[in-house]
Amino acid sequence: MLTKIKTATLMGVDGYPVTVETDLHNGMPGLNIVGLADMTIRESCQRIKPAIMNCGFRFPRERVTVNLVPAGKPKEGSHFDLPIALGIMMLGQENKELNDTAFLGEVSLDGTINPIRGALPLAICLRTAGVKNLVLPAANACEAAILKDINILPVSRLMEAAEYAMGTRVIAPYTGEEKRHEKKHEIDYAQVIGQESTKRAIMIGAAGNHGILMMGGPGCGKTMMAKRLPTILPELTYDEKLEITGIYSVAGLLSEKQPLISERPFRSPHHTITATGLIGGGGRPRPGELSLAHRGVLFLDELGEFESKAIDAMRQPIEDGIVHITRNFQDVIFPAQVMLVIAANPCKCGNLWDDRKLCTCTHQQLESHRRKLMGPFADRIDMHIKVGRVPKEQLTARGSGPCMSSAQMRDIVSAAREVQRLRYAGTGYTDNGTLDDHGIKRFCKLDENCSQLMNRAYDKLGLTLRGYNKILKMARTIADINGGEEIREEHIAEALLYRVDLEE
Ligand SMILES: [Zn+2]
Repeated sequence: MLTKIKTATLMGVDGYPVTVETDLHNGMPGLNIVGLADMTIRESCQRIKPAIMNCGFRFPRERVTVNLVPAGKPKEGSHFDLPIALGIMMLGQENKELNDTAFLGEVSLDGTINPIRGALPLAICLRTAGVKNLVLPAANACEAAILKDINILPVSRLMEAAEYAMGTRVIAPYTGEEKRHEKKHEIDYAQVIGQESTKRAIMIGAAGNHGILMMGGPGCGKTMMAKRLPTILPELTYDEKLEITGIYSVAGLLSEKQPLISERPFRSPHHTITATGLIGGGGRPRPGELSLAHRGVLFLDELGEFESKAIDAMRQPIEDGIVHITRNFQDVIFPAQVMLVIAANPCKCGNLWDDRKLCTCTHQQLESHRRKLMGPFADRIDMHIKVGRVPKEQLTARGSGPCMSSAQMRDIVSAAREVQRLRYAGTGYTDNGTLDDHGIKRFCKLDENCSQLMNRAYDKLGLTLRGYNKILKMARTIADINGGEEIREEHIAEALLYRVDLEE
């Protein structure tokens, strides 16, 4: 009399397969769910009974026990409704072989199947477990259909899923071609006029994956320039798109209009955001802004305004590239490899570098502002760049000089990243920005002239060892952009431009 239905549950952004076992016993009528089910699953008893009866099925008068296997792992989500309902409906029915089929879906009282959260990661783990057919809510079909080797069978009513499970209905696999989101970027660096030196600095940051601190007064275009960064980062690979879409799926941010994240994310949380909003968490852990920016750009505008608690919470995850949350003795890991871009005023009043206005900050205020900016992410921010206001004449005189477009910048970035990929193959490093001390020694070798130049800079600018290493990393990227195997003096000279100090 026992039935077994395959499904899956989420753990962070990953899924794992679960089997729903259903059996009848003599005793008090009722539905009993065991196997570390969370509140939503236990609540599903209330939804499933009317839904089954509204489909014209009889709800068993015996005691029904539902066991979720493996019993030792926690399960969560309303998508257990459908497999549990089917397990009950199939008791005593002729059923077809369902070994390679899995079911996901939330059920309404009237038998409608509602969309679920996390369809893509759930589908990925079931595919890995050898499932060939996946029955899921029609609204989630286009999201899961980006997987190539599993049949996606959309259903909108509980009855359709039941008939399919009993072998009396055929469901055609979803074929709606993966919606192409090849929309041209509407934003482009060609729209940023008169800021060619800042654009070059940003391009170097993108090429070597260096964190950037942009400093400048209000209205100089920091946000405008940061927003365009994804337009010059390399295209995502298929696997990267799957990975990022999975994160958005778990966060419940996908829709039928946007079932797939195909471009690098740009996240710009407001400074009032909480630590949990940034790094993720909650009863059923959801990814935060840090993970929503994974493989893209995390832009923190006016870092000085963020709560120090929020900044502290971000520090370690940004360093490690992952968010680690422990809940109910289970570890949940969310990926968080971001390119960090921070924008800030040069001082508290904002006028420090403005010739036409007076800075009213005291020396102490300048000092504390500086500490607040430099402190938290000192290891991840290689570049400090100064963004000036563009003179009016330059804004109107279009074509007064060469103006790089996003496409041109992206070609340069992609070429430099390819150089790094080849150089670091098998070394554990991925790009110049993530080189540690050992990597810097090995890959940023200097000749005699360059060493002397660096020594002079070290003394003259009062560099710390960390500052010294950052300049070497940036010089490595500039050499990669210029197509040179060796770091030369001009590369170092340019790198020295990108360590603007706030005291200037
Ligand atoms: Zn000031």
